[in-house]
Amino acid sequence: MENWDSWQWQLRQQIRTVEALRQYVAVSEEEAAGIREAAKEFGWGISPYYASLMDPEDPNCPLRRQAIPSLAELHDSVGLIDPLGEVNHSPVPGLIHLYPDRVAFTVSNRCAMYCRHCIRKRMVNRKEARYNWRDGVEYIRRTPQIRDVLLTGGDPLLLPDHTLEQILKALREIEHVEIIRIGTRTVCTLPQRITPELVGMLEKYHPIWLNTQFNHPKELTPQAQVAIERLLRAGIPVGNQSVLLKGVNDNVDTMKALVQKLVRFRVRPYYLYQCDVLRGTEHFRTPIETGLNIINSLQGFTSGLAVPTFIVDSPAGKIPLHPDRLVERGTDYIVIRSFEGKIVKLPNPPNQFLAGNGSKMVENNKMMSIG
Ligand SMILES: *Cc1c(COP(=O)(O)O)cnc(C)c1O
Ligand code: SF4
Repeated sequence: MENWDSWQWQLRQQIRTVEALRQYVAVSEEEAAGIREAAKEFGWGISPYYASLMDPEDPNCPLRRQAIPSLAELHDSVGLIDPLGEVNHSPVPGLIHLYPDRVAFTVSNRCAMYCRHCIRKRMVNRKEARYNWRDGVEYIRRTPQIRDVLLTGGDPLLLPDHTLEQILKALREIEHVEIIRIGTRTVCTLPQRITPELVGMLEKYHPIWLNTQFNHPKELTPQAQVAIERLLRAGIPVGNQSVLLKGVNDNVDTMKALVQKLVRFRVRPYYLYQCDVLRGTEHFRTPIETGLNIINSLQGFTSGLAVPTFIVDSPAGKIPLHPDRLVERGTDYIVIRSFEGKIVKLPNPPNQFLAGNGSKMVENNKMMSIG
């Protein structure tokens, strides 16, 4: 197709009707009903590129589940619209300052594909959620402890090059901003966006890091690889943040294939997120043990580079969870468990802070409860 490789064409042709979707997949009754009903709550849109990767016959295709609205989105007994309390941590609209030395800066409310599990549903794909990025830059300028700015959204790479460059230039004029990070799913949903012109512009504002979101090995296509190569050649390290989603990637085989293919593409698996307690995502949520079991089945069994950190996000911040490998803490020894379940005893210096303190810490802190 003539304009297939143009990202602007891909956006103009973004799929927003059942008829347009039918050119790529045999839309099921259920999907059509989901589009009719669930899309009223959270609008939908799919790049032709991403639609072309879907299994045309299988409604359970992991890509279809991420992209096509489902009636299940309307049945959620516990989900909240802002489960991370991001609005409460916004000193200016569109900027989230939760951690001491870094901010998430939502500079765009558009995306190449609207993920059904999107944590920013409340602001993404909505006209009223447009902010003036200059207010955010001003806040960063007068807040010297911010050394790391994460451009996010929506998708910052949906902005035209010149707007993005204005933002980067303004940030680079602030001395205390050490690194700039870009969170974008375009590498996965619209790899055409990673043009030579874009990376040529980005590399003027180093150090820049980029994180993307691949959730399934089927998304790691030759086109995605071209985009990744371009970023890496421009000196931009590429990391990946996956979301654990029922029926998409909630098993060891799929996640192992995903992380191994990522490192083959020289992308570092960074985080694996537990699906947030977000309204309309109950059908995607897995028990915490699913994530722990996946990490348990990766660590030691494959390259350490390929093992992401399992994260449960909360209004108090991201909380990493690890499979428990400490069997016993003696006065001067520890007993720990290896990846294959072997038990190892090692000498370990006595710890003067030991005993009792663990439970006290919980009592002294106010407990937060969500949902
Ligand atoms: C995730 C996030 C960041 C970045 O966190 P890292 O763990 O440093 O990747 C920064 N600010 C907010 C509000 C976030 O949610
Ligand atoms: S690309 Fe990111 S911001 Fe956009 S819909 Fe998907 S998860 Fe949300």
